[in-house]
Amino acid sequence: MEPMQILPIDQWGLEVQTNPFVIAGPCSAESEKQVLTTAHQLSNEGIKVFRAGIWKPRTRPNAFEGIGSKGLPWLKKVKEETGMLVATEVANQHHAYEAIKHGIDILWIGARTTANPFAVQEIADTISGADIPVLIKNPVNPELDLWIGAIERIYQAGIQKLGAIHRGFSTYEKSPYRNDPLWQVPIELERRVKSLPILVDPSHICGNRELKNVSQKAMDLNYDGLIIESHFDPDCAISDAKQQITPEALTDLLSGLKMREVSTTNQEFIHTLETLRKKIDQYDDDLLDILQQRMTVAETIGMYKKQNDVTILQPTRWDEIITKTRRKGKERKLSHEFIDKLFVAIHQESINKQTKIMNNGVTLQAK
Ligand code: PEP
Ligand code: MN
Repeated sequence: MEPMQILPIDQWGLEVQTNPFVIAGPCSAESEKQVLTTAHQLSNEGIKVFRAGIWKPRTRPNAFEGIGSKGLPWLKKVKEETGMLVATEVANQHHAYEAIKHGIDILWIGARTTANPFAVQEIADTISGADIPVLIKNPVNPELDLWIGAIERIYQAGIQKLGAIHRGFSTYEKSPYRNDPLWQVPIELERRVKSLPILVDPSHICGNRELKNVSQKAMDLNYDGLIIESHFDPDCAISDAKQQITPEALTDLLSGLKMREVSTTNQEFIHTLETLRKKIDQYDDDLLDILQQRMTVAETIGMYKKQNDVTILQPTRWDEIITKTRRKGKERKLSHEFIDKLFVAIHQESINKQTKIMNNGVTLQAK
C-alpha cells in the first residue's frame, strides 16, 4: 500500500485548537442530566471537545452496555449549549450510521473493535466518503499490524482526518496499570505510519485517578493530545468509576503538565546534545560488537553440544545467568525488568543460532 496521506489535527478543519488537543467527558452517557452537567463544567474549565460512550462494549454480559441511540440527542444539546465538539465510540455499522446522522463531530473505534477486522471494515464502509475525523484505539493485544490494519481500512474509505489513541494493552500478569502502556508499540506505530496524530488515553492505561505520570509521559514523547474520562460525580459513575476525575481535577492535571519543545535554537544545547549523542552512538556500536562476539561463542558451544549429543537448553545454566545478571544489573542501577528483557532476548538469539547449527549439519572442524 502507498504511504497514507494523513492530515495533522490542525488541518482537520475543527474550530477548536488547543495544545495539547484534549478530549474529555464521561466514560458513558448515563442520563441527560449527567451529560449536560458534566459538559457545562468541562466547558467552563476550557475543554473544547466532549466525549461520551453511547454504546459500551463490555467484557461481561449484564453490565451497562450504554444508553444507546437515545443518548445522541443529549450530545446534540451539549453542542448547542456549550459550543463544544462531541465525540463517541462506534463499534458496528448501526452505531456509525446513527452517530453520523446525529451530527457527532469525531468518531472513535474502541480497543475491542480494532481487534476485529470485519467490524472495522463494516464501519469503514458505512462512513465511506464522510468528512469526519476518526480516532482508532489500539487493539487490546499489542499487535501493531492489527492497529495499522484498522487505520488502513478507515483510510481506504477516504478518511484522511485520522488519528490513533494509545490506551495500553491487556496483560495476564498483575501490573501496576489497568492496561500496560508498552510505549515501544506507539513509538513503532509513529515510525511506521508517518505523520499520524497520536493521542494518549491515561484513564484506560492507569485505571485509577493518578493520571499525572502517564499524561506527562505522553507530552514528553511529543504526542498530540489526551483523551481523559471526566464525570461531574465520578464515584457514582455507572462505568469506570475508579478512573474518572472531576472537571476541576482535570484542570489541575492539565495545568500541571510541563510542555516541552521538540527542538530549540539554543546553540549550546544543540552542541552538547550532539556530543552526547555521539557517545551514545559509540556505545551502541560497542554493544553490537560485543553481542556479535557473544553469539560467535554461543555458536561454537552449539557445535560442541551437537558433537556430544547434548541438548541446547540447559535450565541450570540459564538460571545461573539470569540470577547473576540481575545481581550485577542491580549494582549498576539497571532495573530487574530491563535485565530480564535484555537477557531473555540475548538467550533466545543464542538458542536460535544453536538450533540452526543442530539442524544444519554444521560441525566443528577438528583442528
Ligand atoms: C472507552 O473509551 O470508554 C473505552 C471503552 O475504551 P477502550 O476501548 O479503550 O477500552
Ligand atoms: Mn471507559
